[in-house]
Amino acid sequence: MLVLVVNAGSSSLKSQLIETDGKVVSMKCLAEKVGTDEACMNISFAPDFQKVRYNAVGMTVAQCLGKLLDVMVDDPESPISGLSQIDAVGNRIVAGGEYFTKASLIDADARAKLSLCEELAPLHNPAADACIDMLMELLPGTPQVAVFDTAFHATMPPKAYMYPLPMRYYEEYHIRRYGAHGTSHRYAAQQAANLLGRPLRDLGLITCHLGNGGSITAVNHGKSIDTSMGFTPLEGLMMGTRSGSIDPAIITYIMRREGKTFDEMDEILNRESGILGISGTSSDMRDVLEAASKGDERAELAIDMYVYRVQKAIGGYYAAMTRTDAVVMTAGIGENSADLRERIFEGLAHMGMILDKERNQFEGAVGANRIISIDDSPIRICVVTTDEEMRIARETDNLVSQMGD
Ligand code: ADP
Repeated sequence: MLVLVVNAGSSSLKSQLIETDGKVVSMKCLAEKVGTDEACMNISFAPDFQKVRYNAVGMTVAQCLGKLLDVMVDDPESPISGLSQIDAVGNRIVAGGEYFTKASLIDADARAKLSLCEELAPLHNPAADACIDMLMELLPGTPQVAVFDTAFHATMPPKAYMYPLPMRYYEEYHIRRYGAHGTSHRYAAQQAANLLGRPLRDLGLITCHLGNGGSITAVNHGKSIDTSMGFTPLEGLMMGTRSGSIDPAIITYIMRREGKTFDEMDEILNRESGILGISGTSSDMRDVLEAASKGDERAELAIDMYVYRVQKAIGGYYAAMTRTDAVVMTAGIGENSADLRERIFEGLAHMGMILDKERNQFEGAVGANRIISIDDSPIRICVVTTDEEMRIARETDNLVSQMGD
């Protein structure tokens, strides 16, 4: 089945065309820094995957997808010449609330429920919904599937997903922890089990998805038992532009002091905080690392805070589990930044997570799944390349194939 995978992030669009029968990828697209004046898209086709770069300044995530579809139809290198050749679309959706606990076919009812989930992930869900709407128009009759980041966390026990608020907020508004990045955490856990050569059901893992957004999950015997993102993807770690966890009283304090509206406060916490808010330079870790290397003190503080919060979260999940066999690093920062990994694990050696600095730095291994702890580290440290797109394609194939039965 030829599946177009659409992964609309907060500031990015990742898309792949995947033939699921042979797990063959024939198109890759990455739009980055969308919404900034450095926005650009790289599109490439099999077999060489020679990237062609397109300017994406002034475009929304959905408009980037529109541009990608045009290129896929027009480019002679493209494996398709018409959109009707696409059998199904798999959409990554960050928040499914309590409406969706597994991947779902997008019919009118599901589309209406998706709109209700938008406020749970105000940076991501609206971008994904805009992509779905555009595809419904351009590819009428092609089944679209929603694969949810929250689904993997449906196994969390009440003590992890409940907030200590008056009970009626859970009962009336379903305010609880849903988590996010579930597809990535599930995949990272499985890849780590493969690396360790042991069944996932026997392992205790702490999976760290450190990208533009970031979350950490305690995966006990293959099941998510707790995760750092909460009711929305705003909770937990410090992120590119999101504050992560802060004293909730700060919010009402600022609103009173400055007469901020709810929307303005949402904007501050979701788009103006985190690494961007502290560094004042950028939300992108590469830029901030570079600024810090030139002596920028705010950039250095942002990195220090980021590292410290990741360390504390890993420590928290170590305590939440009955055993910890490995810590797994994935996503943009987790996979690519040897420097940040070194800083994070420098502080965690006393818990038995002992990094092998050479293995960590080994450039040739970038992009490959590997173990980067010393041989007798009580807890292993793994780096795995997240492959959310392949998982989304396979889940889409499963669901669409069942439709035909
Ligand atoms: P998203 O959450 O948008 O999917 P990604 O997983 O692509 O994000 O991660 C993006 C983040 O990864 C950015 O902050 C980027 O700077 C960071 N990143 C990517 N490569 C590197 C690198 N080599 N060193 C440090 N940070 C990196």
